[in-house]
Amino acid sequence: MSAPAEKILTRNFHRPDSHTLATYVETGGYTALPKALAMEPAQIVDVVKRSNLRGLGGAGFPTGAKWSFIPKGHAGPVYLVINADEGEPGTFKDRYLLERDPHALVEGMAISARAIGSALGFVYIRGEYVQPWRRFRAAVREAYDAGHLGRGFDVVVHQGAGAYICGEETGLISSLEGKKGWPKLKPPFPAIKGAFGAPTIVNNVETICHVPHLVNRGPEWFARLGTKTQGGTRMYSVSGRVRRPGVYEAPVGVTLRQLIYDFGGGVTGNGTLKAVVPGGSSAAILTADEIDVTMDVDGLRNAGTMAGSAGVIVMDETVSIPEALMVVARFYAHESCGQCTPCRESTGWIYKMTERIVEGRGRKEDLDTILDLSKRGAGTTICAFFDGAVGPYISYIEKFRDEFEALIPK
Ligand code: SF4
Repeated sequence: MSAPAEKILTRNFHRPDSHTLATYVETGGYTALPKALAMEPAQIVDVVKRSNLRGLGGAGFPTGAKWSFIPKGHAGPVYLVINADEGEPGTFKDRYLLERDPHALVEGMAISARAIGSALGFVYIRGEYVQPWRRFRAAVREAYDAGHLGRGFDVVVHQGAGAYICGEETGLISSLEGKKGWPKLKPPFPAIKGAFGAPTIVNNVETICHVPHLVNRGPEWFARLGTKTQGGTRMYSVSGRVRRPGVYEAPVGVTLRQLIYDFGGGVTGNGTLKAVVPGGSSAAILTADEIDVTMDVDGLRNAGTMAGSAGVIVMDETVSIPEALMVVARFYAHESCGQCTPCRESTGWIYKMTERIVEGRGRKEDLDTILDLSKRGAGTTICAFFDGAVGPYISYIEKFRDEFEALIPK
């Protein structure tokens, strides 16, 4: 593959006024909403299920299945919450959707709300995303003025304050409620008891931007674009030591090699590829000979890593893997919310150990201590934050142990 087969989410990005209602309508926008309003909610859920659309924020859960967890016949409010708190290092695609095609999210939300029986949606936008927030807020105003919102479905735009953990759905809900953004143990899952105690569906921006296209073009079309277990395209953030860093839309069956070489133009300065992180900083690292893998959820899971947020970070031979791990470890130590002992303590200790290894003060036992802390702590905490941190801790050391050992005094 040398170019994306079809652009769906990014089709209007080249237009200077792509964020406006006029451009969105001119290019077919808001034609799916009336169709969805004429459908039964269960029919919309069925369309999404048959499309094989999966969550594109990190977890990769099937979207239609998630929607069907809302209790049948629930009498009180149901909320739709959009996670626009894009904070995973190496990931910068939702910001482009908010900035360049905000009406796709508005329309996707209105359709999704119809499917789950919600009259009120929230969009939780990362505090640092000022321009995306401005653009999205303006789009919401335009949608109200044009009558696309406010007739049975309202949208509240909420700015976060810049904590990584507020991208975790229960942490996000706590923050939205005005509390400290601390995750909660599941169950109960948000679909049963979420925002303000009501059934709540939390979906990522990119996931919901696909929804109008599913209604307009049908689930089979979308499913065919992808792999057997995941439909459609997704937006890959490609960064690091690559010639053409950027956001690329491609079918989910694209390989990591194609993303680096065909889309990203190859390694900077014709250098040698050393390693790649395929799905944001929480994904296990892959070596240069592991890049012939498809980028869908199951393809990367089978390769021992994860699709996550599709943040592809390319490293060449000039990159020190111990230094890269130190940077990642510093991030997790800083962002742990501190509720769980294994996460709070281990992230801090692991950062200190990686730092002293990089500074030439490492101890012989440090590498095994990091691996031991990671393996013992995984699966014991309230949320998936520590399980995510463990991905890089273990994989960087197991795949590049020689590099770490070379820095430790004999
Ligand atoms: Fe907080 Fe870490 Fe526990 Fe998640 S795993 S709740 S981030 S301490």
